[in-house]
Amino acid sequence: MKNSWKPSIVIGITLLFNACSSLPNTNSQLKASLDKEYQHIVDANIIKAAHDKQLATFGGADKGKAGNKRLTVIVKKLVAASNIGGKTIIPILLNSPIVNAYSLGSHSNIAYVYVTTGLLKFVKNDAQLASVIAHEIAHIYLSHHIQRQENSAHKFNQKQELQADKYSVKWLKAAGYNQYEAVYLLKSLNVFQSQYALENQADYPSNDDRIKQLLELIKTS
Ligand SMILES: [Zn+2]
Repeated sequence: MKNSWKPSIVIGITLLFNACSSLPNTNSQLKASLDKEYQHIVDANIIKAAHDKQLATFGGADKGKAGNKRLTVIVKKLVAASNIGGKTIIPILLNSPIVNAYSLGSHSNIAYVYVTTGLLKFVKNDAQLASVIAHEIAHIYLSHHIQRQENSAHKFNQKQELQADKYSVKWLKAAGYNQYEAVYLLKSLNVFQSQYALENQADYPSNDDRIKQLLELIKTS
């Protein structure tokens, strides 16, 4: 894997030196752009490695056509509605009975949203599934994964969770999904919480706190 990105860095450095000789005054700008490019390459590899680890740890990818198509269509609709641009969101269906969803984001242009086959069975309709996916895309859009890494935290904090809900409700509406299904899903998760865990559900904010905020947001959106 190392070998696959090393040549790109060499090219980057070569460009910097070439450009430096004719544009000495923009040295710091070029250094910043090289740093950015370097970070981008490093992150692309880190996220690929993290993705491979996720697949290996959580049951591997499920190849079921119907399930994968369902995820792809929802992600496409939400990305179009959210106008987040710049990032490619890759949905991955994990072959696991646990009801779960989460995401991987970084400085890289590629981000992953994971949904288990367990969650696919648990949701009552596409709008409920879309509410979970929109929440994860919001974490990616808001750079929460990068902040979490910088804080050496294992979980998103309360503020980040509520912030992700705020964006997801907006995008659900723009994509034509019933926003109230986000609330209904959290309510049914409350019932199953002792048995199953959706990403961060076991911690604060409680589902009740999230439901309260969602209802306020839907009313004013
Ligand atoms: Zn979350």
